[in-house]
Amino acid sequence: MSDTIFGKIIRREIPADIVYEDDLALAFKDIAPQAPTHILVIPKKPISQLEEATDEDRELLGHLLLTAKKVAEDAGLTNGYRLVINNGPDGGQTVDHLHCHILGDRQMQWPPG
Ligand code: AMP
Repeated sequence: MSDTIFGKIIRREIPADIVYEDDLALAFKDIAPQAPTHILVIPKKPISQLEEATDEDRELLGHLLLTAKKVAEDAGLTNGYRLVINNGPDGGQTVDHLHCHILGDRQMQWPPG
């Protein structure tokens, strides 16, 4: 699997505004925020996209969602927020390392673009 910019962030080879870390996951502020609060939650395991996750990743995927919930709480998003996982080209994925966007502190619209 090829390395990505998120792999470099995990290894501290490039800087990021990290807001949470544990053995399995890392959360950091998006460099091009699409909302007043925009944080990415990623697994440390380099899964390229949700499509590539397997049954073996069941616990890890659950951990990612619960981590997103915790990070959103810690960010003070008491009035709600949106979680987004872009998968593949049609999903608009641009970095090939699974990540969950937390978007908050503004009213989200539906349907998304
Ligand atoms: P996606 O389009 O779903 O693949 O999301 C990739 C996200 O990564 C985009 O929102 C980018 O702004 C964000 N991003 C790219 N490079 C960095 C970086 N070095 N630090 C933080 N966020 C980044």
